[in-house]
Amino acid sequence: MPGPARIVRTAAAMQRLAKEWQAKKLGVGFVPTMGYLHAGHVSLMQRARKAVGAKGLVVVSIYVNPTQFAPTEDLSKYPRDFARDKKMCADAGVDVIFAPTDKEMYPEGFSTYVIEEKLSRSMEGASRPTHFRGVTTVVAKLFNMVLPTVAIFGAKDFQQAAIVKQMVRDLNFPLRIIVAPIWREADGLAMSSRNKYLSPAQRSQAGVLWLALEQAKTAVAKRAVPAAQLTKMTSWLISTQSETRLDYVEFFDPETLAPEKLVRRGTQMALAVFFGKTRLIDNAKL
Ligand code: AMP
Repeated sequence: MPGPARIVRTAAAMQRLAKEWQAKKLGVGFVPTMGYLHAGHVSLMQRARKAVGAKGLVVVSIYVNPTQFAPTEDLSKYPRDFARDKKMCADAGVDVIFAPTDKEMYPEGFSTYVIEEKLSRSMEGASRPTHFRGVTTVVAKLFNMVLPTVAIFGAKDFQQAAIVKQMVRDLNFPLRIIVAPIWREADGLAMSSRNKYLSPAQRSQAGVLWLALEQAKTAVAKRAVPAAQLTKMTSWLISTQSETRLDYVEFFDPETLAPEKLVRRGTQMALAVFFGKTRLIDNAKL
């Protein structure tokens, strides 16, 4: 069994360690998370290990980043369980858990943000206008502290991964981004820390996101279908569940995120659905 991960709490200590690794030319695989870990997160840690090998280092950050939450969102309620996260990281062979405080990340007088201006306008960016500014800012900061050679992001947050890749290109971060597949529950629901918020009734309906993706996949398997028609089909399917409210559904090019009017195999679909106050997202290549 691997030993427990070393816990680092300050930016200075993290950077010091990262520079030692850099001097030794060791590979560093980095998995940024907000904690309350599940099997999807663990799959990213395993992907990081595969990328850097037994001699490399795997770093997981656990930080619920306030700048990516709007004042009306679930920041204070976001689920946390550091003891459990620590155990999951140890079992996954993680070398270092970087878990900074808010004061450490956003000290008094903090005033610099990173803003991606194209890919971040639609979908999650349209529904949550300040969200991606928070994401790109915290990810840039974390990259500068951990100095990874490779960072792993989940396809669960497809738009986020695309924006981070764009930021890495635009700002010349010297690292590689890997996007790893979505891990799902038995009924197709994508694993998410937020699934904990669902009532039993909502949980039993939540498989509808996956059904919507499957429905669209089947519809475009043999011929292209207008996005408007697929949007109607999706809205209808979501509305068959009593606790749901569709926030958005989009069909787009997986590289540019540009909306597609005619949807074919290979088009990316993403949707966001409210179950009461809980908002779940999912996506797939059709
Ligand atoms: P979070 O803790 O929700 O900020 O997620 C941290 C990372 O884990 C992000 O790169 C997510 O895309 C990824 N992730 C979250 N859920 C899943 C999942 N079900 N499968 C794969 N990756 C995931």
